Amino acid sequence: MSQKIEQIEVRGGRVHNLKNIDVDIPLNQFVAISGPSGSGKSSLAMGILYAEGSRRYLEALSSYTRRRIGQSSRAEVREVKHIPSAIALRQRPGVPSERSTVGSMSEIFNVVRLVFSRLGSPVCPNGHRVAPSISIAQAFDKASSSEDEDSWTIECPTCGVTFPVPTAADFAFNGDGACVECHGTGQVRQIDDDAIIKDENMSIDEGAVAPWRLPGRAFMATIARSRGVRTDVPYKELTDKEKDFVLHGEKKRYKVDLHTSTGRVYNNNNSLYENAYDAIRDSLATVKSDGAMKRLNKFFVFKTCPVCHGSRIKPELLKQTVNGKNIAEVADLTLGSLQDWRDETLQNLPENMQKMASVIFEELTNNLRPLLQLGLDYLSLSRSGNTLSTGELQRIQLAKTLRTETTGVLYVLDEPSIGLHPDNVKGLISVFRELIEQGNSLVVVDHNVDLIGAADWIIEVGPGSGVQGGNIIAKGTPAELQKNAKSLIGPYLSGKADILLPKTEPTAPSNTTQTTLEVANYFNLNDVQVSIPEHEISAVTGFSGAGKSSLILDSLVPALENQEKLPKQVKKLETNMKHVVSVDAKPVGKNTRSSVATYTTIMDNLRHLFADLPEAKEKGYGLSAFSYNNKDGACPNCGGLGMVGLDVQYLADVEEVCPVCQGNRFKPEVSAIKWHGYSIVDLLNLSVKEALPVFEDQPKIERELKLLQEIGLDYLNLGQSTPSLSGGEAQRLKLVKHLNKSQKQTLFVFDEPTIGLHPRDVETLLEVFNKLKKKGATIVIITHDLDMMTNADYLIDLGPRGGSAGGKLMAEGAVKDLLQQRKDSLTLQYLKQHFD
Ligand code: ADP
Ligand code: ADP
Ligand code: ZN
Ligand code: ZN
Repeated sequence: MSQKIEQIEVRGGRVHNLKNIDVDIPLNQFVAISGPSGSGKSSLAMGILYAEGSRRYLEALSSYTRRRIGQSSRAEVREVKHIPSAIALRQRPGVPSERSTVGSMSEIFNVVRLVFSRLGSPVCPNGHRVAPSISIAQAFDKASSSEDEDSWTIECPTCGVTFPVPTAADFAFNGDGACVECHGTGQVRQIDDDAIIKDENMSIDEGAVAPWRLPGRAFMATIARSRGVRTDVPYKELTDKEKDFVLHGEKKRYKVDLHTSTGRVYNNNNSLYENAYDAIRDSLATVKSDGAMKRLNKFFVFKTCPVCHGSRIKPELLKQTVNGKNIAEVADLTLGSLQDWRDETLQNLPENMQKMASVIFEELTNNLRPLLQLGLDYLSLSRSGNTLSTGELQRIQLAKTLRTETTGVLYVLDEPSIGLHPDNVKGLISVFRELIEQGNSLVVVDHNVDLIGAADWIIEVGPGSGVQGGNIIAKGTPAELQKNAKSLIGPYLSGKADILLPKTEPTAPSNTTQTTLEVANYFNLNDVQVSIPEHEISAVTGFSGAGKSSLILDSLVPALENQEKLPKQVKKLETNMKHVVSVDAKPVGKNTRSSVATYTTIMDNLRHLFADLPEAKEKGYGLSAFSYNNKDGACPNCGGLGMVGLDVQYLADVEEVCPVCQGNRFKPEVSAIKWHGYSIVDLLNLSVKEALPVFEDQPKIERELKLLQEIGLDYLNLGQSTPSLSGGEAQRLKLVKHLNKSQKQTLFVFDEPTIGLHPRDVETLLEVFNKLKKKGATIVIITHDLDMMTNADYLIDLGPRGGSAGGKLMAEGAVKDLLQQRKDSLTLQYLKQHFD
């Protein structure tokens, strides 16, 4: 008799920093992996469990793929036993295409399409509406004789015309139903009139006409001048005629007098004039690089498609209604109000349709439930996927997973608590429980103490980061870990440890200066005014969808970036700030060419060190030879990437270490040159900590290394590629360049800075914030983390919930004062509990 297998057995795990670990992962349970940032949690979860689980899955899929993958992509682990097929929900899901919406990603729109094709009242070609009961009855008669939906037709009782029933496929905006004008995106790209003239107070010579600053367009000012346009007075003083030539002047060749620097004048008959708009259009037609495209994008805005009014669907399909609403109107409902629409529709449908309707609507209900549990009630179906936050995307993925009712699958989740208000964490846990009940296993990497505390089993990786981590330091149930002296998370689970740092005194007396921002109508914000104390730390809190990003990222940041031209929704801005720096947890650098050394000034300084060596001079190796991002220095086989892609069908991202340079990235003759006995490759392989004594007599490098140490990144290798850094690591790295100067007029914005951070890392981050504060910085943090709020000076809470139930200022003031007050704010309730 076969024994029931109860655990995955990992033996000899050595991925990244993991130190030959043996660990058992219970199956059919909710397992949390905890540990400091960089300790090796993802290396275990993604690098071993997911990698092996998905590899087995692919092997089962096709022997062809198996042969092609070979040994190279196997995780560095001796043995993994009893691993089920694995599916990973990543911390950073890919960016959805412009065609995807909440409705299409969650697949709820499929059900809505079905509702419209089955329960809708269509309009015949003569414009008469056919009652739903008739259309359905007829369609079903046809259905009994033909399975093919496309052949279903109905007859219009009013005029006798026979016409096809729209099918569910007809309503697909990413298929047959797509609006022809916008190809189903609901938006068309237009030149943004507001982006043409940067600043009316500038003259053309000073660069007032932004498109003429595009490459190859500097000459346009000369042509304009030769046509009588005054280019040396502020743009606003130009006559309408002059402005008209700038904006709409004819595209043709003009004869221009050219004055050279020596004062000589000669004629040029051949100068093609591009007015401000033409300069953009023509540049677009010839754009080649991503960088150039990015520059051009600034001149465009997306406007709602004039044909489908943003509904993405062919206008004729909008005539079909269900319970008085067309499909575009239903798509604009939020997930929360979709439930009400369902109930109302069911009530109003004729008797003979109730049965079918309830079957279809049951599916809608099932699809909606997990989304609502995960606190996404405020999103509308029509909301574009590419406007969603990472946390929202991951929760949509998760809800979909639940619905597919898989069984026997291992789900590996990376930071599912991102973006969740403490109140929503409960919903997340109940979704986990359902996945387990369906017969699946769950491994979750997270830092949220409530979430970890709800797990069946905790595995702790540590004790430190990088080389100081990579061991399993404790394992057990939450109750067991609370008693385990080796556990780092135990004290936080039991509430014994609190993160409370001594408050840093502001550089200026409190409340003397503040930045005041007033936002009129913008999404769910409606005349919200907030005051942010300068030189202090403010936390902006509230449910997902409350309006935090709208207020801070979409309003405050752009307003501070360009105080001359406030975003439309910003009614008022009073501030002493001159600069704004937003620091997010997005990966640093897109490709693996960016490393800790190249991101800081370290690489440049290293290159100088090497190029100055007599041996290098003798051999003619200059600065460029000591860069793996330059062909003079890069390994010719991998072009300096250190990795080469394996051309495997279906698996775009399978890579192996470059066999020529062994991952060193450099040409062998370059890496043969030594400084104090170290080659450039040796130095890049040092951790920050190891490098400190080596560069004792190199003040520029040493200073940068010390900064890296101060922000808790001393375990990183200098040559480590920055896209491999965790969100928290990336975020701290981005601060390096700000820490060594006065920041009295700079406002820093952090969006969920605790992502990926163990409570211990949160302390490090708070210390970094305090350092910035000592430099005079003003700091604004969007956060759900109760420790962050506790340690902030000031709190701005939006709510009461998300979407239309949000957007209001619930509480604002010094944290210590707010805790004394009775306020109707859920965030404050949680904060008070946390404080007790
Ligand atoms: P955690 O998930 O606990 O934050 P990781 O497993 O991501 O930690 O990282 C463990 C260690 O391995 C860290 O020192 C990290 O910098 C390093 N690391 C992660 N990814 C890579 C990679 N692709 N190449 C080299 N080192 C890596
Ligand atoms: P938070 O940052 O607090 O999670 P947001 O500022 O992102 O909240 O959202 C506030 C409200 O504005 C929500 O109802 C959200 O759905 C809506 N919203 C935000 N961005 C967009 C957008 N690009 N398109 C449509 N609605 C949006
Ligand atoms: Zn359209
Ligand atoms: Zn190579």
